[in-house]
Amino acid sequence: MFRKVLIANRGEIALRIIWACKELGIKTVAVHSDVDSDSLHVRFADENVCIGPAPSRQSYLNINNLISAAEISNADAIHPGYGFLSESPEFARVCEACNITFIGPSPETIALMGNKAEAKLTMKAAGVPTIPGSDGPVPTPDEAKRLAADIGYPVILKASAGGGGKGMRVIRSEADMEMAFQTASGEAAAAFNNGDLYIEKYLENPRHIEIQILGDKHGNVIHLNERECSIQRKHQKLIEEAPSCALNAMTRKQMGEMAVHGAKAVNYATAGTIEFLLEDGKFYFMEMNTRIQVEHPVTENVCNLDLVKAQIMAAAGEKMTWRQKDIKIWGHSMECRINAEDPIRFIPSPGRITTFHAPGGPGVRVDTAAYAGYFVSPHYDSLIAKLIVRGPTRADSIMRMKRALESFIVEGIKTNIAMHIKIMDDPDFIAGNLSTRFMERYLPENQK
Ligand code: ADP
Repeated sequence: MFRKVLIANRGEIALRIIWACKELGIKTVAVHSDVDSDSLHVRFADENVCIGPAPSRQSYLNINNLISAAEISNADAIHPGYGFLSESPEFARVCEACNITFIGPSPETIALMGNKAEAKLTMKAAGVPTIPGSDGPVPTPDEAKRLAADIGYPVILKASAGGGGKGMRVIRSEADMEMAFQTASGEAAAAFNNGDLYIEKYLENPRHIEIQILGDKHGNVIHLNERECSIQRKHQKLIEEAPSCALNAMTRKQMGEMAVHGAKAVNYATAGTIEFLLEDGKFYFMEMNTRIQVEHPVTENVCNLDLVKAQIMAAAGEKMTWRQKDIKIWGHSMECRINAEDPIRFIPSPGRITTFHAPGGPGVRVDTAAYAGYFVSPHYDSLIAKLIVRGPTRADSIMRMKRALESFIVEGIKTNIAMHIKIMDDPDFIAGNLSTRFMERYLPENQK
């Protein structure tokens, strides 16, 4: 097992990793930018190192500074969390070259799955169902038009190197292709240094269902069932739950087996997620995330295990103690992402939190690095807390979530807490009538 782990991240996930390390008896090193010196991850880690100024490029994304911090503090492993460098093959490669274990997949696997067009081809070749579309990147708008005519409109253009919903465009007719192609490609080039786009059929009303995977370095791969993440805005998740009310036992089993099959095809040996879209009872591979995800706690709740600890143990070369048959689903769990954002326009609302009271009580977990007096910096993600509940049934989770949201007090900045309460009261949400377009009804232009 590792002696000391450096956490190349900030916020709630840095704290989450510190908790896992403490329970495993591992020392921790926090890194922080200039503006994060008062952060809780800095306070609760055993050691801390300042890695640069506020802009991420100069601190949390600065590989040289992170490696120097690991060397100075004598850390034998680095946990990248999610976001930042968690899916950077280059970072994983540099860690390897410096004899520091990267807690994640090999650089080759990250690179392969990080290119979404290639990942899709790889999964297709392994027999995993994929959404009809191009085999790899599409070079020109004319080629995109030709393919779209075959696939049938509407289609979606997606960035090969994409993430966070950037570089995506839905196209409903050929006349819109030229313009959409140029803007999506420009957006992708600016965000990811890679303007490549691929094209696929746009599914009108799908559900986003993903399967949690866990592997070890001894060739074992299991799945921990699904999470439903259909409640999204701007293609980004807002509410996640496990299990999904859309799956019957047979589809659940098929999706789980396909995900394990896909993971084995790329020799997967750590925690990861295979994302699918589900429509009319059919599911299609969308992408693989080769890291721990924001929404991992709902899986921890229903499967009764600690995914971050499992991930660290797998990276240290330990053999998994679970077999697929040991994985059961206990009750239901739901997560609301509490963001510092204007709830109407979905734009960030940074600033100082003056009052902060997190809910508690039976079945409630709050993963957060915020506190009264904490400054939500405009430099980083607007997620300030994850409110997670568990209950015997989905109906119990909804009631519990509602009462927890109602006693969650955050003042000084805008948050989306009130909007989450509205969703908990929405008859379609309660009935489980979900799709990735569910949130459109809450857009200002659709409000009466
Ligand atoms: P990113 O990596 O940017 O998060 P994803 O490929 O995971 O992108 O897609 C994010 C979301 O975009 C999905 O959850 C879904 O809502 C929507 N989406 C992506 N591809 C399609 C598609 N072919 N049809 C309909 N919606 C899609």
